[in-house]
Amino acid sequence: MRRCIGCMESKEKKALVRIVADADGGVLLDRTGKAQGRGAYICPDPGCFRLARKKKAIARNLGITVSESDLDRLSEEFETYGEK
Ligand SMILES: [Zn+2]
Repeated sequence: MRRCIGCMESKEKKALVRIVADADGGVLLDRTGKAQGRGAYICPDPGCFRLARKKKAIARNLGITVSESDLDRLSEEFETYGEK
């Protein structure tokens, strides 16, 4: 079980997606579950992303500074997550 950094509910790992800090100091949505690096788990739900963003939970959980442009890009990925 892993805890979503947005709604803080514990769920099965496979019900969540990982946001991973990459080697270049950026962040990415780990759709494969195999990306290297420190990750934070979150529901594939735009609402949970908005909560996590508001609480600055992504930067805190990853231990990095996350730029607004990265957050905007992630936000778009969450909005379209189920469509891909
Ligand atoms: Zn959640």
